[in-house]
Amino acid sequence: MIRFWQKRFTNPIQLDDELEKKRVQLKKLVKQKFGGSLVIRMVDSGSCNACEAECNALSNPYYNLEELGIHFIASPRHADVMLLSGVGTFNMYHHSLDCFEQIPSPKWVIAIGDCTKDFGIFEKTYALKGHKKLKIDFFIKGCPPSPSEILEGFLEFCEKA
Ligand code: SF4
Repeated sequence: MIRFWQKRFTNPIQLDDELEKKRVQLKKLVKQKFGGSLVIRMVDSGSCNACEAECNALSNPYYNLEELGIHFIASPRHADVMLLSGVGTFNMYHHSLDCFEQIPSPKWVIAIGDCTKDFGIFEKTYALKGHKKLKIDFFIKGCPPSPSEILEGFLEFCEKA
């Protein structure tokens, strides 16, 4: 007899085929090019937080980014990539540069969201400084990009890295 605590209460997750293909490919590339572990430090340089919310969704059981070997961490000293969101305000400008300095080489900057490129909806705000001193290696467009688009962006980045 199966007791109630022995039952499975969640349904197996059904991924769409396209997403599953991208996940398999991404896991393979992370293994080939980053030894199985790609570590990301995200820096919000003045965003509306929607890009961060979409990145958070990548850690849920559906997208399950950790399983592919991609981790978000707090310390830049353990990171490979700086994932940069936001416009680069006066207050955050030096913090972004400082974070980049602390990431050991080889390192990359991935910018996420349209406002990192041309200020987007914040175009007329007074507090903008931009990202002039940072060399952006890869850009993920969208305002905000969906988790699938971000995953696709990571895949393209890994192919080029
Ligand atoms: S790109 Fe759009 S969604 Fe992302 S932080 Fe900028 S304004 Fe917000």
